[in-house]
Amino acid sequence: MTNLNNKENVYKVLIIGSGPASYTAALYTSRADLSPILFAGEEKGGQLMTTTEVENYPGFPEGITGPELMVRMEKQVRRFGTEIIEKTVTEVDFSARPFSIFAGKDKYLADTVIIGTGSKARYLGLENEQKLIGRGVSGCATCDGFFFRDKEVVVIGGGDSACTEALFLTRFCSKVTMIVRRDQFRASKIMQDKVFNNDKVDVKWNVVVEDVLDPAQDRVTHLVLKNTKTGELSDFPCQGMFLGIGHSPQTGIFKGQLDLDDQGYIITDRFFHTNVPGIFAAGDVQDSRWRQAITSAGSGSAAALEAEKFLETNS
Ligand code: NDP
Repeated sequence: MTNLNNKENVYKVLIIGSGPASYTAALYTSRADLSPILFAGEEKGGQLMTTTEVENYPGFPEGITGPELMVRMEKQVRRFGTEIIEKTVTEVDFSARPFSIFAGKDKYLADTVIIGTGSKARYLGLENEQKLIGRGVSGCATCDGFFFRDKEVVVIGGGDSACTEALFLTRFCSKVTMIVRRDQFRASKIMQDKVFNNDKVDVKWNVVVEDVLDPAQDRVTHLVLKNTKTGELSDFPCQGMFLGIGHSPQTGIFKGQLDLDDQGYIITDRFFHTNVPGIFAAGDVQDSRWRQAITSAGSGSAAALEAEKFLETNS
């Protein structure tokens, strides 16, 4: 589909993203006969595609894997006629309605847009860390853990993500050491207990990573750690380093178009309206606090209902 420039081809609802927020927005708007179009992006299914068991999504008493949950969501929205475009949105122009959305050279027009582009794993930003990504440094234990069978690895961070990654890695690795920059976890009590009760997981408190070596050998051989209390440096041998220090919202294409907070999250009101009437945002792209599959799905449904209401009063 190319160069949709005339009014007949203006979509009522255009959804950017393919995580729980976007699929739920698509489900609601397609069932409301608004014929939504959804851009799946490069990482279709979002972060749940790199998650193993999901045990806290209601309706699945035995648990479900992240990828299976996303496949089911996709099937459900297709059933109600959502048009899924397997492309990435590269640019937007929200200065006038209908809004312009570009995927490479293709231009799409829409009366309302629901953004559910989610967030991505954060890295420390060290030069050697970047050189060793895919060579022992990873932002996704569930994707890469398998390659570290019988190896000793570290997980950076002390939140729920870091604990989940560390526990998952014990399936493969001989030892997992968590590197925590304070003297306590940020993770929930239940995850902390699981970590403390697992013999394969050690925790190093009050330390940060100063450097990752050795790019000359094209693999991770050890880390240089710094004690945050004493400033003392020490070498820590390991063969893998996994990041579990949180996520950054995927909002690059919205800079200058929408109001973002100082961390780059889209600012919405409690009804998921952005500062531009007709543009809504749902899920992790506007939520740095809960970031759960179920809260994302809930906000996606709310954004869809708001878009429907907006169309009723603004067409
Ligand atoms: P969090 O922000 O909760 O935790 C990030 C962790 O990384 C903190 O321990 C933080 O330290 C540390 N950290 C951040 N930056 C650095 C840095 N530069 N160097 C060293 N350490 C750093 O992020 P999560 O991704 O863990 O969790 C986000 C949300 O998702 C939470 O609400 C969580 O509950 C939820 N979640 C739930 C899961 C579940 O229910 N199973 C699984 C995963 C996530 P500090 O504490 O000092 O700031």
